[in-house]
Amino acid sequence: MAAAIIDGKAFAATLRERVGDLAARFAAAAGRKAGLAVVLVGDDAASQVYVRSKNKATLAANMESFEHRLPADAAEADLLALVEQLNGDDTVDGILVQLPLPDHLDEQAVIAAISPDKDVDGFHVANAGRLAVGQSGFVPCTPLGCMMLLTDRLGDLSGLEAVVIGRSNIVGKPMAQLLLDANATVTIAHSRTRDLPAVVRRADIVVAAVGRAEMVKADWLKDGATVIDVGINRLPPADGAEKGRLVGDVDYAGASSVAGAITPVPGGVGPMTIAVLLRNTLVAAHRNAGVALAE
Ligand code: NDP
Repeated sequence: MAAAIIDGKAFAATLRERVGDLAARFAAAAGRKAGLAVVLVGDDAASQVYVRSKNKATLAANMESFEHRLPADAAEADLLALVEQLNGDDTVDGILVQLPLPDHLDEQAVIAAISPDKDVDGFHVANAGRLAVGQSGFVPCTPLGCMMLLTDRLGDLSGLEAVVIGRSNIVGKPMAQLLLDANATVTIAHSRTRDLPAVVRRADIVVAAVGRAEMVKADWLKDGATVIDVGINRLPPADGAEKGRLVGDVDYAGASSVAGAITPVPGGVGPMTIAVLLRNTLVAAHRNAGVALAE
């Protein structure tokens, strides 16, 4: 039987709508809108697209969007001074510095400069620590979005075998932590994992966050597994085409005949990331203004 399609696009649209309603209520209660500041350094094409869509989504969700652009050769001191200014600005609830930064800038130093209470990306070491010890903080948007899709689909994850492929700080590690908190039995696989297909075959839940086009094959999957494909990879253009197709880390066509449910690429995890960013900003605004969240 063909796998059910996990429609992240529809789920994200519903989440954005709910956040928009709550943001309007926040504005009425606090006398100001929740605000998200996005800092873009340089002119990386993909980053510009992301920043533009974050800006649009923020405004559509009844929040204020502050965009700050610095030139590609900006000095680190100038970037840190901007972050410091945003930390002290009461109209800014969330701060996001678009990554990757140009090579001469130290990403870790910049992330460390963001106030943990405004770190809506959840990348600050204080928020990573809170997640690790089970305290409430900001959780990175992509894995939190994956978790929402998983619990919506499966309900209670207790005792399920989960395999996360990838161990980055922004996806793999927080994903594993969230699954562990939900009482799944978690394995984190990476480039040094031996016999990855055999490891993946154990999984009731597979989260692929690798960055390799269609790496996970149908015969790696257990019958009925739930597959969350985080990867975004562009294939080389077919003859005559300007751009190649976007695909995930999972061979979608093959996997669909074995999995119980699967996220498509595009339209699966991708749309969840911005929706969760808006949700995190809304939560930050309530905390910063001392207003109770009406959820
Ligand atoms: P990273 O490059 O930081 O991490 C990739 C991970 O995959 C590493 O842990 C690496 O292992 C592992 N890996 C690489 N090759 C293999 C292999 N052959 N077998 C097993 N594991 C392997 O990537 P990110 O975590 O930042 O992103 C992963 C993917 O998710 C990318 O395609 C990215 O574009 C996408 N992404 C999508 C988002 C969305 O909104 N949908 C948001 C963020 C990312 P090792 O640690 O050993 O090197």
